[in-house]
Amino acid sequence: MALTGLEIFKLLPKTNCKKCGRPTCLAFAMQLAQKKANLTDCPDVSEEAKNVLGAASAPPIKLITLKAGEKIFKVGEETVLYRHEEKFHNPTGVGVTIRDDLDGGAFSERLKKIDGLKFTRVGTEIGIDIIAVQNMSKNVEKFSSATKMVADNSHLALILMSDSVENMRSALDVCGNKRPLLWSANAQNYEGMARLAKEKNCPLIVSAPRLEELADLTEKIKSLGVSEMILDYNSARLKDVLQGLTKVRRAALKKNFRPLGFSTITYVKENDGYQEIIKASTYLAKYAGIVVLDVCEPWQIMPLLTVRQNIFTDPQKPVQVEPKLYQVGQANENSPLLFTTNFSLTYYTVEGEVEASRTPAYILAVDTEGTSVLTAYSGDKLNEKVVAKAMANAKVEEKIKHKKLIIPGLVAVMTAKLKEELGWEILVGPKEASGIPSYLRSTWS
Ligand code: SF4
Repeated sequence: MALTGLEIFKLLPKTNCKKCGRPTCLAFAMQLAQKKANLTDCPDVSEEAKNVLGAASAPPIKLITLKAGEKIFKVGEETVLYRHEEKFHNPTGVGVTIRDDLDGGAFSERLKKIDGLKFTRVGTEIGIDIIAVQNMSKNVEKFSSATKMVADNSHLALILMSDSVENMRSALDVCGNKRPLLWSANAQNYEGMARLAKEKNCPLIVSAPRLEELADLTEKIKSLGVSEMILDYNSARLKDVLQGLTKVRRAALKKNFRPLGFSTITYVKENDGYQEIIKASTYLAKYAGIVVLDVCEPWQIMPLLTVRQNIFTDPQKPVQVEPKLYQVGQANENSPLLFTTNFSLTYYTVEGEVEASRTPAYILAVDTEGTSVLTAYSGDKLNEKVVAKAMANAKVEEKIKHKKLIIPGLVAVMTAKLKEELGWEILVGPKEASGIPSYLRSTWS
């Protein structure tokens, strides 16, 4: 059971020394109870208190880390059911499978393709995190040589998929500097898998078709000395998996039910590639910690990563670009000047269209606290004074000879006031960014 703030307070030194960064021990105790502080922040806590508080202050969903060279992939340690309550912390890991029974050429080709699944979207690099080696051959040599090939040639974190403890052991011996996740322990093999996971210090996936069985298995595995687990509630039906994922999350966060206090994983396999992505997106939204798929075409993976990027932003912090003057192409003093807001999505959409127009230009990203054009205008974060200030800060007049400013068509209503404030000619651009290429070609020639 979780301890209350007052119960925790009774176990602290009560010196109010502030070394933990909080004004009093009581304030620290309250934050510990709400899982907003870490016990290690107090350097003076006694060993006895550590023993009692250590377990009680542990996060309701255990953090698991996978190592791939210098890169660390993290999953778990979530604190809320709904994103708007705070934010989701560790983005759902996206993994793609590779079978160990593919012949040499096909294996290398798929490995190269999977390893290259990264894209740039709204100024951020997004990509998959994990490659999952499947022991489809059931053969020990094939599995370990496929694992070695992946470990040596991929920058991604690794999952090893085999029911055989012996095959898993031989693959683990060739993982190099990776710390893989073992998939999986089930009712039949959990003792051997748990011993191996403990010996090799690797996290373990626990699989069962019912939540009661999962809870039972995690307790048994914990008693064998393994504390890092991920849950695989394996059902073929979307409805059942979704229900299972939601129940696990609720049990961990709302009831602090330790046997299910772990992150989750799902493996999505469909004959139809579109269906696979739809299912994976559904699990990613609620509440899979890792989603593993078979498909690996860029056009299939990109939408899934886009969904993830949108869900795992902090809802209290709009995604922003630095408010300043941006140069697109070889812009010079005669190039057009457009302004937009510093909301990332808006800015990069405009930038993409200006690039597509092949007209070198300047874009002034006006600081509207990361809100879009209409939102900023209606909230008075975008007006003639704000634009004038942004132009002065960016020293626009030192870089541009002409005095023409292209404004978003959605705020054409600002024209007169802007003209008066700046003394510039105001040109009303298109309402949609997609109209920018033809607009620039026709007006700026
Ligand atoms: S560091 Fe420890 S003793 Fe000092 S105020 Fe914080 S909780 Fe209290």
